[in-house]
Amino acid sequence: HDAQDDVVRGPARLTVLAGPTAVGKGTVSADIRARYPQVWLSVSATTRPPRPGEVHGVHYLFVSPQEFDRMVSDGEMLEWAVVHGRHRYGTPRGPVVEHLSGGRPTLLEIDLQGARQVRDAVRSAGLDAQFVFLAPPSREELVRRLVGRGTEDAAERERRLATAEVEMAAEPEFDVTIVNDDVTRATDELAHLLGARAEGAAP
Ligand code: 5GP
Repeated sequence: HDAQDDVVRGPARLTVLAGPTAVGKGTVSADIRARYPQVWLSVSATTRPPRPGEVHGVHYLFVSPQEFDRMVSDGEMLEWAVVHGRHRYGTPRGPVVEHLSGGRPTLLEIDLQGARQVRDAVRSAGLDAQFVFLAPPSREELVRRLVGRGTEDAAERERRLATAEVEMAAEPEFDVTIVNDDVTRATDELAHLLGARAEGAAP
């Protein structure tokens, strides 16, 4: 018995967070991880190399292309996609199912192609899932964030900008939209949808 048992009631629901490139999905996820530890944040497998500060098993499972192939062919992925035309990213199915059946609100932060695959998968599995679109306050702000991040070279930024344009058009496919005007506010709104309470909050 731990503190989580007190805040999680009833069957847990799967929540999928998606949205355009550079909208701040990673920042919102990091804030969920920091302030809402009762939420299980799925750890994706990826073939991309780690960035400084990223920890294997915490931010991603950094795997070789061969290992990724193996996970896919062994049916271990709930969904997977090539993102930005480069690296592969996928959600290992096992931990998601485990945490959901343990009653823990579970969050997937994935791209749109992945969100569509999860939608099809949960429909056939009869799972309860909600799909949340994280939107920028405006298109101009999205472009500013895309250019401002500076972790990629110019060609990479161009690719991501093109992807973001297409991704913005997917909003109507989602159950709920959260505008990422302020990270803390956006995170609290997401946590509310997850049925989670902030660490240290009164019951
Ligand atoms: P980054 O390389 O910046 O960490 O992530 C790039 C993109 O990959 C983000 O849009 C993120 O949502 C997406 N992504 C991360 N993990 C997964 C996953 O497991 N599946 C899918 N489909 N996309 C993912």
